[in-house]
Amino acid sequence: MGVAKKILVIPGDGIGQEVTAWGQKVLSAIAENFKHEFTFEEGIMGHVAIEATGNPLPDETLEKARKSDAILFGAIGHAKYDNDPTLKVRPEQGLLKIRKELGLYANLRPIKLFDELLEASSIKPEILRGSDILFFRELTGDVYFGEKNRTADRNTASDLMIYHRYEVERIARKAYEAARTRRSKVCSVDKANVLEASRLWREVVQEVAKEYPDVETEHMFIDNAAMQLIKDPKRFDVVVTGNLFGDILTDEASQIAGSMGMLASASIGDSTGFYEPIHGSAHDIAGKGLANPLASILSAALMLDISFGLKMESQRVIKAVEATLRQGYRTMDIANKHTENALIMGTDAMGGKVLENLN
Ligand code: NAD
Repeated sequence: MGVAKKILVIPGDGIGQEVTAWGQKVLSAIAENFKHEFTFEEGIMGHVAIEATGNPLPDETLEKARKSDAILFGAIGHAKYDNDPTLKVRPEQGLLKIRKELGLYANLRPIKLFDELLEASSIKPEILRGSDILFFRELTGDVYFGEKNRTADRNTASDLMIYHRYEVERIARKAYEAARTRRSKVCSVDKANVLEASRLWREVVQEVAKEYPDVETEHMFIDNAAMQLIKDPKRFDVVVTGNLFGDILTDEASQIAGSMGMLASASIGDSTGFYEPIHGSAHDIAGKGLANPLASILSAALMLDISFGLKMESQRVIKAVEATLRQGYRTMDIANKHTENALIMGTDAMGGKVLENLN
């Protein structure tokens, strides 16, 4: 018996437009193959929304988001804002607002290297082989939401790092629950030797850990974690950390997967899940048809698994991506000097190969 789901698609800006189309096509193909009924709506957010309405997250998009079962998002951002930090209305405000409005407090980023891409990473294959990490990055606290100040003379600035007990507690629980379905190890990353917010973080994780005696807990300082991730990525199973450290560590970890273009993420709370590639709008390649669509396709796979509980369908998508890579097809970002020119392709050709492998 198939399921009926409403999916909101928000392509956003730059390559978001190009890659999200493929995440959606893959979801449609899965619905058809497995007799599910997925209905799609589209919403605008980011620079395109500012241009159209003056608002990076129009109310209409937010309304549609609230009524959907899951959201497939691309990316936001435009060079105009990167080069002018004084602009008051900004694309990223749309993203921060939708996360807040939907109560999305945990960002999940699976980092799993496809064997076929061992050579594409800048790290040695023998260190990488078998790496499989699931990051939980907290999304509602930290310096992103703490008070910001600049002195009257403009020469001194501060951002408050703030965490509340309940924020740490709920994400720690999600991390421990996930660890139970994996290798039963949680590494909590903080800077408790220096920061009070981190001391609270560690205290709360230690309390939650007591509820999961079957899961092994490790606490690691962020500086050490950044080093261990490159030195011995296999030692990690589930990693749970705050907003700022998580932001940086997960980009570092993207190198394990070979490219930003391969990594999917899920933002979850207690209702609608939000699925997106970890990359941005990539102005340097936007509009050229070169972007790797696999991160969006893998975001669709995460949605099937986490929001809809459709594990078999999710695995089918991952297998189709694996098969495509095994056949040698590569977008530019994951090609290397051994890749034959004839197998290097653009967004649409690569997406098309995954679709063929799905059927
Ligand atoms: P980016 O992720 O857009 O790009 C970084 C590098 O990775 C670029 O060289 C780009 O070409 C490459 N890359 C990224 N995704 C790729 C893909 N799918 N295929 C092939 N190559 C890919 O980060 P950036 O350049 O720092 O930022 C560009 C814009 O995106 C900025 O405006 C920034 O604010 C925004 N941004 C948005 C998000 C988001 O929407 N979640 C995240 C990060 C950055």
